[in-house]
Amino acid sequence: MTQRVEVAVLGAGLGGLGMAERLLQSGEESFVLLEKAGDWGGTWRDNTYPGASCDVQSHLYWFSFDEQPDWSRVFAFQPEIKAHIDRLVNRLGLAPRIRLNTEVTAAHWDEAEGVWRIAVSEGEDVVARALVTAWGQLNRPTFRDIAGRETFRGESWHSARWNHDVDLRGKRVACIGNGASAAQLIPEVAEVAGELLVFQRTPNYVVPREDRPYDPEERARYRQREFLQESRDGFYWEHEGWMGAMKQGTDVAAEFTAAARAHLEAQVPDEELRAKLWPDYPIGCKRIIIADTFYPALVRDNVQLVTEKLEGVEPEGVRTADGVLHEVDVIVYATGFETLSFNCALDVRGRDGLQLAEAWRDGPQAYLGITVTGFPNLFMLYGPNTNLGHNSIIAMLECQFEYVLQGLAVGKEKGAALAVRAEAQDAYNAELQRELRDSSFAGSCNSWYKTADGRITNNWKGSVEDYRAATRELDVADYDLVPTP
Ligand code: NAP
Repeated sequence: MTQRVEVAVLGAGLGGLGMAERLLQSGEESFVLLEKAGDWGGTWRDNTYPGASCDVQSHLYWFSFDEQPDWSRVFAFQPEIKAHIDRLVNRLGLAPRIRLNTEVTAAHWDEAEGVWRIAVSEGEDVVARALVTAWGQLNRPTFRDIAGRETFRGESWHSARWNHDVDLRGKRVACIGNGASAAQLIPEVAEVAGELLVFQRTPNYVVPREDRPYDPEERARYRQREFLQESRDGFYWEHEGWMGAMKQGTDVAAEFTAAARAHLEAQVPDEELRAKLWPDYPIGCKRIIIADTFYPALVRDNVQLVTEKLEGVEPEGVRTADGVLHEVDVIVYATGFETLSFNCALDVRGRDGLQLAEAWRDGPQAYLGITVTGFPNLFMLYGPNTNLGHNSIIAMLECQFEYVLQGLAVGKEKGAALAVRAEAQDAYNAELQRELRDSSFAGSCNSWYKTADGRITNNWKGSVEDYRAATRELDVADYDLVPTP
């Protein structure tokens, strides 16, 4: 038995759910969301570490087409975001359309029938005219070859797989990493742990966050659409202004560097500690941390910043290159995610059996981050080169939803599947990579945005407005129309 639908969406995180809402709003009822986990919510389901929150203001970090005006504070914590996601699912009655615990094991394009044949781990396989991947960029935890992890006698886990059964009160805890996740969990762990060792390999720029709760009056005001929109627009344009910091050598980059320096000096009195925390690469090269509580946590008496190279994990703790064994009870790996493959290891095959992994043997690439040559009616959300360092991913997703809807409409009208032309994809990527050369991402640092040889596979080259302009109108001339029966 198979389930036949117009659109199969792979993943029920914010990307998949937003797509579902826009499908419904556009009158498309024939779709299914395939979700390998036992709940929806994507990153907001996975990341339950203490202090997990979104460093984009909540008014901006929500869909413009969805009613959700009531947020308790400027930057919401994970439980509130997840609760709003649950409300979205319930309000739209999406639950019956989401197949949980259903992992896609293969997706093959069937040219004769003009459909995607999707094999799943549970229940009926799916046949769909279009496949929309909403599998995210930041959900496959990596430990980046840290040797000896399996020998550790204490408890350990990744930041995105928090073990809430272990009480950290009074414990000696190691946190490996100091990225965006670590910067949020370190202040919370420091409050309860007996001792916290933070292993930092590369310092990050940190700028103020200025979070605060909204008072009841403000909350009432934001329930009126025009005030919410005004607030949202304010945050959006403020972030668009940050774009300058994503280019090397600009005035905005200098302003941001100065703001980060002032933040460090205001919050870290110790000269030696400041020196360890100050980066030597251009701002924006790695993700800028937006936090008010990270530095204050590092100056606490029970917290120590370890900058010595990490040698490996041993039964009793963490060994550094200077020979010191740092004995701990718990290790938290805030070591990030595998971001460069874009899940292409999954058995996705397009025309003539072309595998996505093979098409991407020189690195993931797509047209506008959405369509891929050789894969008709495959649309990607948050695909290659659509991540940002300066603004909300939700805004990028919204551009992608509209583009996908246009693609589906054109396909229906013409009785065809859309296959992006190689010339369009190649020219687009050549220009993209050329422009990215001046970006901060191309600077002298390692990051999850780029491969070891420096090709930037994850980030977009410009502002959200640039992306909106690029995706606003699907140009049919960029596509071959593959007739479907
Ligand atoms: P990450 O930014 O990739 O950070 C991983 C950290 O682990 C880095 O500090 C890295 O050091 C360190 N590390 C990895 N392997 C190591 C090793 N062998 N030895 C020593 N240190 C090691 O991961 P993340 O913090 O989970 O954040 C990933 C992304 O998720 C963020 O950039 C952001 O886009 C998103 N995020 C967003 C929010 C939000 O509020 N919106 C919150 C959390 C995460 P190096 O820097 O030297 O590689």
